[in-house]
Amino acid sequence: MKVVIIGGGASGLVASISAALNGNDVTIIERNNNLGKKILITGNGKCNYWNSDQNISHYHSNNMEVLKKIETDENRLKVMKLFDRLGLVPRIKNGYYYPYSNQASAVQTSLIKEAKSLGVKVINDKVNSIVYHDKFVINMENGIFNADKVILATGSKAYPKTGSDGMGYDFAKSFGHSIIKPLPALVQLNGVGNYFKLWSGIRCDAKVDLYDNGKYVDTQTGEIQLTNYGVSGICIFQLSGKIARNIDKGKREMLKINFLPFLNLNKNEFITWMNKRNNDLLNRSVSELLDSIINYKLSNLILKLSGIDKDDKWNKISSEKKSLLVNNLLEFNLEIESTKSFDSAQVCTGGVPLDEINPTTLESLKQKNLFIVGELLDVDGDCGGYNLGFAFLSGLIAGNGVNN
Ligand SMILES: Cc1cc2nc3c(=O)[nH]c(=O)nc-3n(C[C@H](O)[C@H](O)[C@H](O)COP(=O)(O)OP(=O)(O)OC[C@H]3O[C@@H](n4cnc5c(N)ncnc54)[C@H](O)[C@@H]3O)c2cc1C
Repeated sequence: MKVVIIGGGASGLVASISAALNGNDVTIIERNNNLGKKILITGNGKCNYWNSDQNISHYHSNNMEVLKKIETDENRLKVMKLFDRLGLVPRIKNGYYYPYSNQASAVQTSLIKEAKSLGVKVINDKVNSIVYHDKFVINMENGIFNADKVILATGSKAYPKTGSDGMGYDFAKSFGHSIIKPLPALVQLNGVGNYFKLWSGIRCDAKVDLYDNGKYVDTQTGEIQLTNYGVSGICIFQLSGKIARNIDKGKREMLKINFLPFLNLNKNEFITWMNKRNNDLLNRSVSELLDSIINYKLSNLILKLSGIDKDDKWNKISSEKKSLLVNNLLEFNLEIESTKSFDSAQVCTGGVPLDEINPTTLESLKQKNLFIVGELLDVDGDCGGYNLGFAFLSGLIAGNGVNN
């Protein structure tokens, strides 16, 4: 069977390997000169390709019931076996899998090597459209190609400079699929405010609570980056997909940031803690009392926003100002205006709805012999290797599915 895979990224490469292992004549059509270009920039160049807790709770989709049938233990085991076959030796840090060499190129190269040694052919060209008349006819910039089966592995609209600019949504639509509006996810957030220059460049530990139209939704804890537009960092990324979807629905998204999570104190306890600190440490200004528990630049900004001079003494500050200071330290309100664009998003939420595909083969329910994999589907995962994990797992299923 002549199987053509459109897109030679993470999902397309794995699909090519599993389709070739099933004895098919496999060709990848990839618009870039290199296969797996995006893999090289994943995990800051180290490629976090899997997680030991590959649990469904780390994934988001509008159809979790179908996702459960795709993300099975059996399928995960098959992916782990593929890693062995590729010769990938993992370095596992808090459950996050990286190649032991900490080089993303190891993952890219091992996939390409395996595909090529199984006879997978590669055409470097851009696909413009695909039609079906008894066979698939694939129209490329520089020619036409035929196929018995097509696997769409074109990715989403995230990070388009790596080749994934959303064309796959149009291909899927041309076969009758609907598309759940793609939005940027695992992405930085633009805040509402005029003080961002003053906190730009600070990295700190924080507990971040997300409120959606005033209602508590989620908490993330970890390092955040304060930037000249708002906030970034892994725990911000983890919230960003939800925020993108809610802002798109016209909801008001608010973060409440606790800059002192390690103290584990509520507001009253913090006042008591500061009273004691003030008694223990003689002749210190309020700014000096905060020294060593919070970045100096950040405490100066927070004091300013609380109407307190950094040289003021704790005992001389009014209770209203103390209360404002404590709010700003333990529940700093940051309204989110928007997410950054697709250009800097690691993934997209949305895509082809899972109830339009067969979960055991990933064959389209709209067009026979068409398969859809990877980020083009309405599945996005948390940071931690879940997105490459899904790309690999779905590629593997479709590569086997073509023989059903
Ligand atoms: C900066 C960054 C860091 C990331 N870090 C991680 C991480 O550490 N761990 C993790 O799990 N995930 C990470 N991700 C997400 C992960 O890379 C993606 O989820 C994954 O690559 C998706 O695989 P895919 O095969 O669906 O799409 P892609 O990898 O995007 O591949 C799609 C391919 O299709 C090709 N293509 C598209 N349209 C056409 C066309 N018309 N004709 C021909 N070819 C076409 C593209 O050129 C591309 O090569 C990161 C993403 C980014 C941007």
